[in-house]
Parts: sequence; C-alpha cells; structure tokens
Amino acid sequence: MAAAAAAAVSEEKKLSLKIMVDIKAKKVVFAEADKEFIDFIFNLMSLPLSAVTKVLLLNEKGSVGCLGSLYKSIESLSSQYFEPNLSNNSVLKPKASVTLPLLSLYDYPSSDCRIFRCANGHTSMSDVRGSLCKSGCGMVEMNYTYVTSKKVALGYVKGAVVYMVMDNLEVKPMSISLIKSLVKDFEFMEERQVQVGLQEGLAILKASLETSNVLTSVFLKKI
Ligand SMILES: [Zn+2]
Repeated sequence: MAAAAAAAVSEEKKLSLKIMVDIKAKKVVFAEADKEFIDFIFNLMSLPLSAVTKVLLLNEKGSVGCLGSLYKSIESLSSQYFEPNLSNNSVLKPKASVTLPLLSLYDYPSSDCRIFRCANGHTSMSDVRGSLCKSGCGMVEMNYTYVTSKKVALGYVKGAVVYMVMDNLEVKPMSISLIKSLVKDFEFMEERQVQVGLQEGLAILKASLETSNVLTSVFLKKI
C-alpha cells in the first residue's frame, strides 16, 4: 500500500499558494489562495470518515485513535458476514461523488454502478442488485452507462476571486480591511510561495484534526 502512495507522489499535481508569514512570531498569518486551493479544503468536509482514516493509516506509523482499528477490522472481516450484495468495500468505499484531485484516495468504480428497474414496468428503480420493486416484483438490469456529475469537476467556489485562508483554515474573500485587522506590523511580514502537493495535502488534512495552527504547522516546519 505504501508503494501505491509513492506512485501517486511521482505524478502528483501541485498547487501554488502564497503565504504571509509573521517572521517575528514565526506564524503564518494567512494564505492568499485561488479557487483550486479553496475547493481542496472545502472537499475535505465531504470526505467519508473511512477515506480520512485510510489516508491517515497509509501515512502514519501510529494509530488514528481507534478509527484505525475499526477500519482494519472491517477490512479483514470475511464477506460471509455481510448482507447479500454487500462487502467490506460497501463500508470502506461508500458511493460518493467526492473526488479530491490532490489526494487520490481511491477510484470510484464508475463502471461498476448498475441500475435496475422493475421487471413488470412499475416505476421503481435501484442501484442494488437483488432489490425488489415497491410492489414486490423482481428487477432487471438496465443497459445504461453510469457517468459522474460534471459539477464535481467544477469544484465549489467561483474562480477569478482571491480568497484568504487563516491559519485555522477559516476562509474569507480577500479584503483590505481584513488584512489590516490581521496584520499588526507590516515590518515583520514576509510573503512566501509554497507548493501544495500530495504530502502537503495529507499534512493539512491531518493537522486540521489536531491543531488550530494548520498552515503554520504544515508550511513553516518545511521552510
Ligand atoms: Zn414492480
């Protein structure tokens, strides 16, 4: 599994981020971010907990509270204990329209999605093989190709807007008054350009669970 993570690193996508550092206090005051980075951190909110656990398990020597043990026990539970048509992947890889360009967590099996309809023409449909129609009839598979929503690829926020991300990941549109309220003394401010790739993306995810100084802990240790 570590090899798969390493492979992802070699062809990774990187985002550029401008951070404003208070060199006296050794803190990131805020980051100036565009749509791509904002979409990335907004996407963190829609990740299934199973995906978060997997990421932290793959990249951590230690444990992730007890979620790691829960994850591993589900992973190793034989399929004979699951309801028909369900497996450990039903729990660990829930169907979701979440894709994180920066963190390639897993591929959603788009071609595996099947749609079934009532064999007798009732208006029931299902994506679970073996389901019964509302009137109790059997269902047949429809010859459709499953496609994912284009909306997902577009992300969440509008482009052509500059956003500010605080050290605690609070997001706001950039404004002069906000900068003035955050920066006490411009003499100690230094602008730095940082790259956000897989490792930094993971570090942001991990730090967001542990600290309110996410940007400082991710970017100032490395510089
Ligand atoms: Zn029916």
